[in-house]
Amino acid sequence: MNRERLKTGLEMMGIEADQTALERFEAFHAILDEYNAKMDLTAVLSEDERVDRHDLDSASPLRLGLIAHGARVIDVGTGAGFPGMPLLILRPDIRMTFLDALNKRILFLRDALTRLGLEAGTVHARAEDAARTGAHREQYDVAVSRAVASAATLQELTLPFVKTGGVSIAWKGPGVSQELTAARRAAFVLGGTVRGVADAPVPRREEWAHVLLLTDKTGATPKIYPRKAGTPGRKPLGENERG
Ligand code: SAM
Repeated sequence: MNRERLKTGLEMMGIEADQTALERFEAFHAILDEYNAKMDLTAVLSEDERVDRHDLDSASPLRLGLIAHGARVIDVGTGAGFPGMPLLILRPDIRMTFLDALNKRILFLRDALTRLGLEAGTVHARAEDAARTGAHREQYDVAVSRAVASAATLQELTLPFVKTGGVSIAWKGPGVSQELTAARRAAFVLGGTVRGVADAPVPRREEWAHVLLLTDKTGATPKIYPRKAGTPGRKPLGENERG
């Protein structure tokens, strides 16, 4: 791993990383390489690109002070641990839960957490199913999700996990403006209110124009949501209506 690039990138974002955090990033990259050599876990990137695209991009809510000390956070569709693992490495006070529908990714994360000496929950399930259980429904201060679905679909995959007063944070690109109307409508149905879009530039990659879509949980999600697994993706709330 290019430790200097990570360190300077975090500094440019105003995020502190102690020696333990930098060592854990290094170890996590090594575990990712080990797994990627035997299975198709995540796209193989150059060292610099992995630091920028995965570690720095994942850290952006910390720059904006969006996650309180000790917050319960769920990473919906975490894949190989993004954005959840960089957030947890930088902020071990966070009570993190990683959720993904693919078991090989959850098994990888369990092994990585043990080897990094970090504690977190791991859930192998579809978001639509987990959000209907008492253990997860409206239990989290924050839901994070990156590269999982359209903004409207994401509202249904994330807001049911969030307590009233909490927030859903979705990583998006410059095209988010096309998705906002549907995302606002979907949020309204699910007990959420879109707060807005915050710029989340990655140092030295400002041309990516990454943003975070922030949706506040302003009331309880009606019991009928989320709909059956697959339906939020096939028929996103808010996308079929006109006006
Ligand atoms: N968030 C990671 C990242 O940014 O690198 C992974 C992104 S990957 C493109 C999408 C992940 O979301 C996959 O691991 C997939 O299994 C998971 N996923 C998609 N829909 C899901 C759902 N309804 N419930 C749980 N996981 C889901």
